Amino acid sequence: MKQKKYIISLDQGTTSSRTILFDSKAGIVAESHIETTQIYPNHGWVEQDPEEIFRTQMETLNNVLVSAKVDPGEIAAIGIANQRETTVIWDKNTGKPVYNAIVWQDVRTTGICKAITEAGHAPYIKETTGLVVDSYFSATKIQWILDHVEGVREKAEKGDLLFGTIDTWLLWKMTGGKVHATDFSNASRTMLFDIRKLKWDDKILGITGIPKTLLPEVRESVGDFGTFNFEGTEIPITGVAGDQQSALFGQACFEKGDTKNTYGTGCFLLMNTGGKPQFSDHGMLTTVAWGIDGDVNYALEGSVFVGGAAIQWLRDGLKMIDTAADSEYYAKKVQEPHEVFVVPAFSGLGAPFWDMDARGAIFGITRDTTKDHLIKATLESIAYQSKDLLLAMEEDAGTKLTTLKVDGGASANNYLMQFQADILNTKVERPEVIETTALGVAFMAGIGAGLWKKEDILKQRRVQHVFAPQMKEDLRTKLFKKWRKAVKKSMDWED
Ligand code: ADP
Repeated sequence: MKQKKYIISLDQGTTSSRTILFDSKAGIVAESHIETTQIYPNHGWVEQDPEEIFRTQMETLNNVLVSAKVDPGEIAAIGIANQRETTVIWDKNTGKPVYNAIVWQDVRTTGICKAITEAGHAPYIKETTGLVVDSYFSATKIQWILDHVEGVREKAEKGDLLFGTIDTWLLWKMTGGKVHATDFSNASRTMLFDIRKLKWDDKILGITGIPKTLLPEVRESVGDFGTFNFEGTEIPITGVAGDQQSALFGQACFEKGDTKNTYGTGCFLLMNTGGKPQFSDHGMLTTVAWGIDGDVNYALEGSVFVGGAAIQWLRDGLKMIDTAADSEYYAKKVQEPHEVFVVPAFSGLGAPFWDMDARGAIFGITRDTTKDHLIKATLESIAYQSKDLLLAMEEDAGTKLTTLKVDGGASANNYLMQFQADILNTKVERPEVIETTALGVAFMAGIGAGLWKKEDILKQRRVQHVFAPQMKEDLRTKLFKKWRKAVKKSMDWED
């Protein structure tokens, strides 16, 4: 009998399918990823091919086992972390999707959402699901497929069709159609799930006209999700979570008040609010973090629309830098304090300001302003926006942050992380493994397979660097005041 000492983590993201093989100390042994095709059939529409998602995910799994020369018998368990909200409907008899996957970014159902809001359902939906009525979530995407793809509604009513977010689709395919399930964290992003009673909400199903027979069974994030037969070996699938919730777990944010920020194209800030859902007065979302061993944790979630994307703009739009990483070098060239502010409100401002008519702006330019200042100010805008979110979240949750745990591509930037610590006046902690999405669900799967306990995870997590605040209080106050002034001046620009 082979020793079961590895965990496979599937990280199905918006732009790629990735598999990471972890060893029993949660170290990365092998990795493989393949980009997936984005389909834009119309303005504001974003689709993907569900078959390609499954195929690329399986290819990366295979690549990892081959390159690491690991026998499938040595795999203790598989975990699945996934892009959230993206919607697939398929025929359970043929296994074929009835339409492409409608991706979370797709805004084709804005009109449906407006109608739901105008009919007065938004307050009920918020208190039940924790979400604001938006095309982002799965519910209106399901509705759209039922109403626009020929023959689909009839088939759905006959019970021939199944709905799933990407976790559910992968699970169903990997178990040969045996398991049609999701976990609490993914269910909480559909806008159909009662996050307190932890079940599908009949009233919202009525409002959206979605037959219950479409919906998967909802389970805890750690547990039995069936087995995947890999060349004759049955490997248990024991962990499932949405990508952001998985990252929160991967950062070991287990206690109330523990918070992580992922610095990617946008930034995703999640705060664990403990065993009770906290509702936001600032347009933040309330979501289920995970369910384990009969316990449910909730989180507040907010996002910065333009995070690393502002650095892409410096690189591709302004051509000021060759690579995103170069931004650190230019920012560090400016030694003296400066007062240039870039507000990257390229498509409006999200939480806590919510002004869709705001536009990007640069303030404080003087004759001696250089490219270095603009690069530095653009990096700093990511930290200021994260602080805006954090302040709102602290108010909603009634807790004060002590340490911010960070990950994502732009968290590699030392200047940005130091400035984040300075402007927050809070420690910023960067872990060794910044692939926290894959790590989180690997931890979950490992717990599910009995390889680890939650306490082991706190021990296993290795911190790579802690950025301690160094800025003087009066400078911090002065800069943040100026930032808020700049934000205010960027608002209400579009007519
Ligand atoms: P996503 O998962 O959203 O694709 P990643 O976590 O891969 O994002 O991070 C990529 C983003 O981070 C890009 O927008 C890029 O501009 C930015 N980025 C990557 N490295 C750095 C860096 N060293 N400094 C600043 N920004 C960076």
